[in-house]
Amino acid sequence: MEMHTCQVCNKLFASSGPRICAACMKRLDKVYERAREYLRDHADAELNASSLAEAIGEDVRDLEILIAEGRFERDTTAADPEERRRQQLLSAFQKSLGDSSGSAAADRRTTYGRDRHGRD
Ligand SMILES: [Zn+2]
Repeated sequence: MEMHTCQVCNKLFASSGPRICAACMKRLDKVYERAREYLRDHADAELNASSLAEAIGEDVRDLEILIAEGRFERDTTAADPEERRRQQLLSAFQKSLGDSSGSAAADRRTTYGRDRHGRD
């Protein structure tokens, strides 16, 4: 096994792959959990290391590393306007599939009723 310098705490440690030592990894996992929870509760919060660190009371450096590692990418895709629009369209589409006949009939009925009412 090779010796690596932890990119978080700069301590030398033995590793075959990751460049973050076990102690930092453990801490980062906790920070990640907290940050993810925060982002989930604050959908409009921007993915910014310093504001996020302040919000959850963690070290800004830990958050910078998590962001640099792309840990939040999967969780924040929904915050991306383009992606959010896509998901809205998708859920609207799925909804229309679910009760397409129902809503279409309701629309027709409304128009029909209004027409009849107008004629009366
Ligand atoms: Zn470390």
